[in-house]
Parts: sequence; structure tokens; C-alpha cells
Amino acid sequence: MSDFDLDYLVIGAGSGGVASARRAASYGAKVAIVESVRVGGTCVLRGCVPKKLLVYGTHFAEEFADAVGYGWTVGTPTLDWAKLIAAKNRELDRLNGIYIKMLNDSKVAIVEGRARFVDRSRVDVGGRVMSARHILVATGGRPELPDIPGIEHAITSDEALDLPRLPRRAVVVGGGYIAVEFAGIFAAAGVAVTEIIRGPQILRGFDREVAMHLAGEMKKHGIAIRPSTKVVAIERAGESFIVVTDDGTRIEADVVMYATGRTPNTAGLDLDRIGVHLNKRGAIVVDERQQTTASGVYAIGDVTDRINLTPVAIAEGRALAETLFNDNPLTVDHRDVPTAVFSQPPVGTVGLTEEAARAIGEVDVYKAAFRPMKHTLSGRDERTLMKLVVDRASGRVRGCHMVGADAPEIIQGLAIAVKAGLTKADFDRTIAIHPTAAEEFVLMREPVKPPIAQAAQ
Ligand code: FAD
Ligand code: NDP
Repeated sequence: MSDFDLDYLVIGAGSGGVASARRAASYGAKVAIVESVRVGGTCVLRGCVPKKLLVYGTHFAEEFADAVGYGWTVGTPTLDWAKLIAAKNRELDRLNGIYIKMLNDSKVAIVEGRARFVDRSRVDVGGRVMSARHILVATGGRPELPDIPGIEHAITSDEALDLPRLPRRAVVVGGGYIAVEFAGIFAAAGVAVTEIIRGPQILRGFDREVAMHLAGEMKKHGIAIRPSTKVVAIERAGESFIVVTDDGTRIEADVVMYATGRTPNTAGLDLDRIGVHLNKRGAIVVDERQQTTASGVYAIGDVTDRINLTPVAIAEGRALAETLFNDNPLTVDHRDVPTAVFSQPPVGTVGLTEEAARAIGEVDVYKAAFRPMKHTLSGRDERTLMKLVVDRASGRVRGCHMVGADAPEIIQGLAIAVKAGLTKADFDRTIAIHPTAAEEFVLMREPVKPPIAQAAQ
């Protein structure tokens, strides 16, 4: 007879927690999962899925306009925002049901409520105390807002996904994934969007040229980007708001959305009581096996604030379950994780940026920038950018980057090549699929000239 109620207690039924719980149960472990809001977590209910449905929903505007160049007569299309939100919510309810069913079918017990540690092997959920041999913290993160006057008037992505009606004017603060994606959603839906970024460029950390190219395309979609600008206050003006910036500009908007990063959900867990260390950003510190500083307590996903993406949380959760319950010690390789920004047009990227690659050695950069065939007839002024970053000595492709239609789909395939360490010669001997945009990735012949500063060295 075990000394514990459970073999495995998972706190947080998001992407990582659910994947880990189910994998552990598949090996016969007795598992329970605690959830304080709704099974599914951020990605399914407040992130990837609803966001992508709104990207699909609003992108039709562009398709209607492009169809005219192909001979279609299109009336004046109108978007019923409330209908789109209702349809999106029905889909989220369906997915929530599927997640609950998957957990039930896997024999993972669902415990509703907020968890808090009693000691290293006991957790309290609303007065019910459960003990477990291993405990996983997979509590994700939440939006973080700076403390400026009037910040209470701002919404975050949580509310933006559920706006009852479309604003006429929106100010989006931030230049990361969420800000860029929502600026695209709003603009495509016909909202006048101003995006305010504190730095010189959107998407810091991405390949610089990619970020600049996307910013150019966003401007063509009517998004006003204000770089190197700080918001100092938000004032209420009747039904609308005034965003005051550090250069004294006052921008009126019906919605002010902040997307200035996310903070790990550790509050109220009583982690200090059991000796779990947090870093400066409040994230749980773990080693490569997801072990925290308290034995028997593990953490994965956004609460560890490493690479905050759903497939990474899932991989970490499954690797931990393999290690603990299948005698199969696994770690997750955090190098060359592909990622996409579902902007309009989208970005897909894997591996090193040109800047990062140049910082560690000699590289050749191959590039294609062109007007996609679709827009020869549609007349749309949109350009696609593709880049390959190649290590000069070995010929190994260290980075693939794209801005343009279907970039996330295309880069997912190329990520296998980068992960496998394939070379530019491997790309060259791959036959193209014609006519596609993706074929450019196997047709790039001449490297671009290095920047003047580099060439002079
Ligand atoms: P979460 O999914 O956040 O799950 C944590 C769960 O723990 C939540 O359900 C929470 O309610 C619960 N919880 C918290 N505290 C407690 C407690 N004390 N007791 C019990 N339960 C608790 N990633 C992508 O890969 N692609 C995308 O396109 C993408 N788009 C995104 C769009 C937005 C707007 C946002 C916000 C995020 C997006 N992400 C995307 C990131 C992705 O959602 C996260 O990386 C992922 O959800 C992390 O999974 P997780 O399991 O670590 O945490
Ligand atoms: P990010 O960290 O991506 O971006 C935060 C942005 O806010 C940056 O531009 C940052 O500027 C800016 N910022 C930070 N603090 C302030 C401040 N006080 N005032 C003004 N600007 C500020 O966070 P997001 O919130 O966009 O997204 C969180 C994470 O969720 C992402 O990093 C990603 O891991 C995940 N995600 C993934 C998606 C996907 O896969 N498609 C989509 C959405 C989210 P600076 O650059 O100067 O620091």
C-alpha cells in the first residue's frame, strides 16, 4: 500500500499539465489534475486557438478584395463581430469538452479549485488535502501591465478575445507576438489601429530584416506604428480614452490594449514554504529534467518562463512523465524551436537570426523578396521575404525565416531540415514544387553581399 493518495498530482490543466497527466496515466500511474478556471488552459481558451480563429475570421476581408482582380463581383462585405465571437466561443466550449473527455478516458481525476502547497508532498484545494509522490506545477502565466496612471482603463488579450463589439479606433501597446497579432486582427476587421512600441522595432529578438519587413507590410494594412514611444498615462474621455505618450502626443481610442509580456502564475501556491526557488522574473527555476529546488516537485511550461510556446510545454510535460513513470529519462532540446507570429501576413522562423549567426562565425545569407504570384492579378501591394542563414565553413543551414502567406506552414517543414543539420547543398539538390512560394527556399543561388560594416572587417 502506497504512503501517498496519488502517484502524480498536476497543478494546472493547460497544454503542458494535461499532456503530462495523460502520459503518466497511460503508464498506470494514479493521477489527478487541479484546475482553478477551466480545463484547457491559456492556449485553448485564451491564446493560440481563439486568436487563430479571429485571424481566420478577419482575414476574409483581404480575400474578398483580392477576388475582384480575378473577375469576381463582390458586394460590400460586412463583418458581424458578435457572430464571430459567438462562433469562436462555441468552438472553445467544444474543445473544453474534448479535453475533459480525454482526461476522463485516460483515468485522470479532475479536481476543480485553486491549489496551494501544504508541504512538499501535500496540496490543498479548497480544504481538500491530497498527497502525491510527485507534484507538477504547470500553472502557466497571465498578462503583465506596467503601473502607469489610468492603466485600469486598459484591456489585455484576455478581454480582446471577447470584445462585445468592435471599436472604431484601437491603441495596442507592445511590439511582441500578442501586440502584432492583435494589431493585425483589429486592422483586418476595419479598426483604425495605432501600435505603440517602446523600442525602435517590433518583434525584438527576431531576425531584424524580418521584423522590418513585417512592419512595412503592417503599415500597408493601415497600422500606424509609433516606435521609441512610451505611454505615460491613459485618461478617460467619456466613452473613449486618451493615450498620452512621452512626447506629449494624445491619441484618442475606443479600446486600449496592453500586450507587454506575461508573468508566471506562482502567487498563492505557497512555493516559498516548500523551498521552490523563483528567478528575478518570478519564474520557477528548474533543471533540464524539470526538477525544481524542492525534491519531488517539478515545473514545466510558461510558469518556468523559458520558451513560452504550447508545443514546448507539451514536450516538457511528456518528457517528465516518461522520466518519472516509464523509466525513460528524457530532456527537451530547446534549440532550434520553430515559431510563428500570426500577423497578417504571418511570420515563420526557425534557428538563428542573421545577427545571432554573424555574432558566432562567418555566414552566408541567401534571400528572396518578391511579389507573390497571387497578387499579380489581385493587384495587392504585398511582398514576401525569405531568408536562409548558412554557416560558411560547414554549409549547414542555421536559420530559415519567412514573412508571407503560409509562412508558419512552410517553416514547420523546413524546421525538420534545420533540426537535422542539413546543408545548403541538401537544399540545392531538392527539386522545387512549382508554382509555389516555398520553392524559393530551394532555388536561392547567390548569397547576398554582407553589410558594408561586415565586409570592411
Ligand atoms: P497554461 O496553458 O497557461 O495553463 C495553466 C493552467 O493552470 C491554467 O488553466 C490556469 O487556470 C491553471 N492554474 C493557474 N494557477 C493555478 C492554481 N493555483 N491551481 C490550479 N490551477 C491553476 N503559443 C503557441 O505555441 N502558439 C500560439 O499561437 C500562441 N498564441 C498565444 C496567444 C495568446 C493571446 C497567448 C496569451 C498565448 C499564446 N501562446 C501561443 C502561448 C501558449 O498559450 C502558452 O505557451 C501555453 O498555453 C503554456 O501552457 P502551460 O501548460 O504552461 O500553461
Ligand atoms: P512578448 O514578450 O513577446 O512582448 C512583450 C512586448 O511588450 C515587447 O515588445 C516589449 O518591448 C514590450 N514591453 C514590455 N514591457 C513594457 C512596458 N512596461 N511598456 C511598454 N512596452 C513593454 O510578450 P507578449 O505579451 O506579446 O506574449 C507573451 C508570450 O506568449 C510570447 O513571448 C510568446 O512566447 C507567447 N505567444 C506566442 C504566440 C505564438 O506562438 N504565435 C502568440 C502570442 C503569445 P521590448 O521588446 O522593448 O522588451
